[in-house]
Amino acid sequence: MQQTFRQKAILQLEEAKKKELALSSYYQLYQDLLQIQEEVAGNISTSLDLVDESVMNDRLHSGKPQLSFEHLPIDPHLFANQVHRIMTLLLAYQGDEVEIPVLKEDELIEKAHQCFQETQSMEKGDLLQLAIEQALMPYLEHAARQVMPHLDTKKWLRGNCPCCGAESNFSYLEAEGTRILVCSRCRYQWRYRRTGCPYCNNIDPKTLRFYPAGEKKSHRLYVCDHCKRYLKAVDQRVAGTAVDLIAEPILTWSLDRAAREKGYQ
Ligand SMILES: [Zn+2]
Ligand SMILES: [Zn+2]
Repeated sequence: MQQTFRQKAILQLEEAKKKELALSSYYQLYQDLLQIQEEVAGNISTSLDLVDESVMNDRLHSGKPQLSFEHLPIDPHLFANQVHRIMTLLLAYQGDEVEIPVLKEDELIEKAHQCFQETQSMEKGDLLQLAIEQALMPYLEHAARQVMPHLDTKKWLRGNCPCCGAESNFSYLEAEGTRILVCSRCRYQWRYRRTGCPYCNNIDPKTLRFYPAGEKKSHRLYVCDHCKRYLKAVDQRVAGTAVDLIAEPILTWSLDRAAREKGYQ
């Protein structure tokens, strides 16, 4: 059977675990999260009720993302179960023995709706919100796959995802040096300017920098001194191969640490 992109990422993390023993529980957490998402994804088959292509492209040209929360084929009962499983994982990773609050399904859906509106990709301190975001991902990816063939996003050039509206948390440089942003939650990919901050649209070179990183200098850490945000990137021209866009943001944890130590988020 063909491996899915998540199964491939789980294997990459397994390799990383062998090399970085001290980080074994960190990689295990992500493997478990991906495994839960994989199970959920396998059970989503509903076709999205999309409007016609010309309406979609009108939205695109006026700078509006395509998806609304109502597009997502969420079964409240299954969703509550998924959030509970993810909360259990997160709490175990933190070593907390806190009782997981019992959440009513309708309250949870309401909270998921709020999370959907919250498009910032920065790490959240709120565990329930984090669990909901992780639980929403397979639904958003499913939706993005259906939206993708209808859109020509070459001219989008915005910081937010043209599909679901969220920010990017990872990027890569293609063969010609084009910078592609990857959505932090639906994994849609779109082109962005070579320079400039996708979080605040700052284009002043005096407040924008990037640091090369990694053994082969195949990675970059873009920072913006205007909004104090950072963006990780892999330069595929140097890396030599297409990177795994699920595993790579997890494997590049040292770039997150370096950025945060310098005061970026
Ligand atoms: Zn998205
Ligand atoms: Zn900025």
